Amino acid sequence: MDRPELLIPAGNLEKLRTAVLYGADAVYTGVEGLSLRAKQAEFTMADLAEGVREAHHQKVKVYAALNIFAQNSDLQLVTARIGDLAEIGVDAVIVSDPGILRIVRKTKPHLPVHLSTQANTTNSEAVRFWKEQGVSRIVLARELNLEEIARIGAEVPQIELELFIHGAMCMTYSGRCFLSAYLTGRSSNRGECTHPCRWEYALTERSRPEEPLILEEDGRYSYILSSKDLRMIQYLPQILTAGVSSLKIEGRMKTVYYVAVVTRTYRWALDAAFKNPDGYRCRPEWLAELDKVSNRGYTTGFYLKNKGNDSINSEQSYRQTHGLAGTVLQYLPTERKILVELRNRLVAGDETELLLPETTIPLESGKMADEQGNLLAEGHNGYRVRFPVEQEVPVGAVLRRRITNVSPDKR
Ligand code: SF4
Repeated sequence: MDRPELLIPAGNLEKLRTAVLYGADAVYTGVEGLSLRAKQAEFTMADLAEGVREAHHQKVKVYAALNIFAQNSDLQLVTARIGDLAEIGVDAVIVSDPGILRIVRKTKPHLPVHLSTQANTTNSEAVRFWKEQGVSRIVLARELNLEEIARIGAEVPQIELELFIHGAMCMTYSGRCFLSAYLTGRSSNRGECTHPCRWEYALTERSRPEEPLILEEDGRYSYILSSKDLRMIQYLPQILTAGVSSLKIEGRMKTVYYVAVVTRTYRWALDAAFKNPDGYRCRPEWLAELDKVSNRGYTTGFYLKNKGNDSINSEQSYRQTHGLAGTVLQYLPTERKILVELRNRLVAGDETELLLPETTIPLESGKMADEQGNLLAEGHNGYRVRFPVEQEVPVGAVLRRRITNVSPDKR
């Protein structure tokens, strides 16, 4: 059994560095204007060049998403970007559109191409077809179960297969969705999804529009179009048996905090599963970690043959118990302190933890001090503060705080 890579979303250079620090084998990024995510989750070419340089220094691969469905007016930019990406040395481009694939193959035939899940590949013949077009890896459709995936892997062993194992799911088939474009004029197929599947809906009878019928489960609204998030950490040995090359986490729009927690948790679990697949037990503390990042409740999607019918998120838009407090700028060895940039308000007494790649260290927020050493009752976004920490801490390590609200952090 080959060891699959752990592939982490990197919405910007800071998140790329976070993913590398916490144990990614590879990251995937957006490219300005061409990657199915809003601008906040796309790299400039200068940032991407720097990200590739730093990631390669740590032996981490970088894949660049060019997965819009292009219109003719996009093709000039697509061609230019493909040249730029080959020059800065990305390890592969991720495409959905056969036109973009054709341009890559024609202009940069040595640049590996991964086929996005949006191409909706669900069977061995489709895999063979894409292989013949020069694709080296297929991100399989999320609608397959593990048995079908293993069969495809056995029938077409000469191609790499990639699976989503964690993160938000679209209710639509392979994420091909027109809901946002229809309701708001902003198309998810061009990276502008406004997430109307996460809105609350009510049913009205035509002659009584003022009397909406509330669609209710458990005494609350139902988000009938909204899927729970995928979480496959309990089933890693079965996934390893299916013979895939890459395990992908969704979430280029997510926070640095999310990247840190999800990367290290799956790193721990994947290493354990690979070392001893028969003895693998998903540890309760790993599940607890994944409950500490924003989520909509968890599902196993279609992987276990349940047809995804446990997937509707009938509870609330988001759950979130912890959020980003700050990031480490420097470790000060003579003082045994960390210099932290706060990213949210932090009050003395807040439950605060420092996340390291291997472990978690509780911090006393009451010992938060300014750069002159004065204790602070509270700090705010942008403050530079110090905390005592006995051991050396890497730059970019993340601090989290317990929060009480359920709306997600935006950082
Ligand atoms: S509206 Fe929902 S289902 Fe459609 S693309 Fe956006 S997130 Fe996915």
